[in-house]
Amino acid sequence: MSRFFSKKYENLEPYVPGEQPQDRKYIKLNTNESPFPPSARAIAAAATAAERLQLYSDPECVLLREALSRQYHVAKEQILVTNGSDEALNFAFMAFCDEEHPAVSADITYGFYPVYANINHVPYREIPLQADFSIAPEDFYACGGTVVLANPNAQTGVALSRAQMEEIIRRNSSNVVVVDEAYVDFGGESCVPLVEKYDNLLVVQTFSKSRSMAGARLGFAIGSKELIADLNTIRYSNNPYNVNSMTLSAGVGILADQETIDANCRTIMENRAFTANELKKLGFTMPESSANFILAEHTSVDGDTLYRELKERGVLVRHFTNKRICNAIRITIGTREQMQVLIDQIRDILEK
Ligand SMILES: *Cc1c(COP(=O)(O)O)cnc(C)c1O
Repeated sequence: MSRFFSKKYENLEPYVPGEQPQDRKYIKLNTNESPFPPSARAIAAAATAAERLQLYSDPECVLLREALSRQYHVAKEQILVTNGSDEALNFAFMAFCDEEHPAVSADITYGFYPVYANINHVPYREIPLQADFSIAPEDFYACGGTVVLANPNAQTGVALSRAQMEEIIRRNSSNVVVVDEAYVDFGGESCVPLVEKYDNLLVVQTFSKSRSMAGARLGFAIGSKELIADLNTIRYSNNPYNVNSMTLSAGVGILADQETIDANCRTIMENRAFTANELKKLGFTMPESSANFILAEHTSVDGDTLYRELKERGVLVRHFTNKRICNAIRITIGTREQMQVLIDQIRDILEK
């Protein structure tokens, strides 16, 4: 820390992203990226947009918001486009959390939530998941704060139904409920159809997972016009050109190729069932995942050992130090071939 670093950030503990090693080629199953390249339409659209990089990107993101508006059946004014969904989440913490509206989330979830609370000087309260890693909806009724829930949940993959989410939203009517749907396309039920009914609901989604565009950094939020206007006040006070023009065009391109996205999601779900089944045969337990990853725990080998042994063998998975899940590894679902290598390597480790 330099002697100039502001005191207001001296206790900030930054988010630690999963490794993106450049030294050797790994089978990368550690950051929930898609194993499939983006649609050819997205690539072509980005290349065309690159020819006009001397111009600023469209601060209104009109073409992409129109495409999203058609896909999700909401008005353009109900959509905010952001630099990854992380930015939408940060804007939501800035806009809707303060001393009177502390952020409330689960004890095991996306690690960025407490960081956003911290950088925005907002109190953060954790409600523990059940022993089986599910969320008990009633634990989140009348929370007295801004509720931030990933559904399906991060790290566990466990999903609540739309009806269960609706009850949480209904019973927190004096606070915003942020539903982070980064993984919804892999078997979850989206809350987007509820935004017409609840003015306190903000749904956040991303192009990073199901749409194979993690490197483009593109996310969006859907809510009432009023919530979106608040978020735009924050966005225009921060960076009106928050999304670059190549990414905006790629986003429009990929939305025009929904068949590819759907086919990729189906493949991931099939590979998830295959992997879960093989892992169970090898003595792993895991909560049922509705996401593109599995949180698996072995009865006799701990998570850190598995993580290190797999890395030595060229397979990267994610290991967390959080006490409740430090015995587990989080495995991103890749291609069938990648999952076969993973299973073979794990079998080899267990036999040793
Ligand atoms: C991956 C992920 C995000 C971040 O996505 P970006 O759009 O790449 O910023 C947000 N929330 C959860 C729960 C995630 O897993």
